Amino acid sequence: MKIAIDGPAAAGKTTLAKALAKALGFLFVPTGAMYRAAALAHKRGLSLADTEITVGEEGRIFLNGEDVTHLLSNPDLDELSSKLAADARVRARLVELQRKIAAGRDVVMEGRDIGTVVLPDAELKIFLWATLEERARRRRREQGGSFEEVLEAIRRRDERDSTRSCSPLRPAPDAVLVDTTDKTPEEVLALVLKLVEERRAKLGC
Ligand code: C5P
Repeated sequence: MKIAIDGPAAAGKTTLAKALAKALGFLFVPTGAMYRAAALAHKRGLSLADTEITVGEEGRIFLNGEDVTHLLSNPDLDELSSKLAADARVRARLVELQRKIAAGRDVVMEGRDIGTVVLPDAELKIFLWATLEERARRRRREQGGSFEEVLEAIRRRDERDSTRSCSPLRPAPDAVLVDTTDKTPEEVLALVLKLVEERRAKLGC
């Protein structure tokens, strides 16, 4: 079974996808972290064509074999990854890698274009959402800084991600919209686990 989780920045995609993959025993693939790894490679002067990005246990990300997971939440990479993600060549490379990772496996993959482009045949598609203010509050709790600055950075990134010509952020027509604004991560997980059970019952698997 393949589960696609998409949505704007700081909507809780990674938290949900990680917990869901653990609960189901599926592989967790954080594609945002893969774009961040591509941005890190760019900062290091590496060409993406010669760079290998792989995903390990619990969504750990390896750049040419080096575990770079701990470097990827650096706010520097927020903006750069979003700029690089608008480049059709970068997307083509990462989408190819993501499809290869998911082939023949049960996965929970999160990002911006999973339900629309990477795994259009996913059995369950979730579009996770929360108000801009709530997402800024969550991101500020993780990263610190001024609320206004964090909110503005998220707003800018959402706008770029939603208006780019190549695979813009948008819900797949068959995605289930989940608003997490007033929900705890545990409540969101319980709700999505219920959707998984319903989908499995429908598919008979
Ligand atoms: O999810 P995260 O905020 O870590 O993603 C970083 C950036 O990578 C996003 O702002 C977006 O531009 C890009 N991205 C994307 N497609 C994905 C995942 C992430 O364009 N599937």
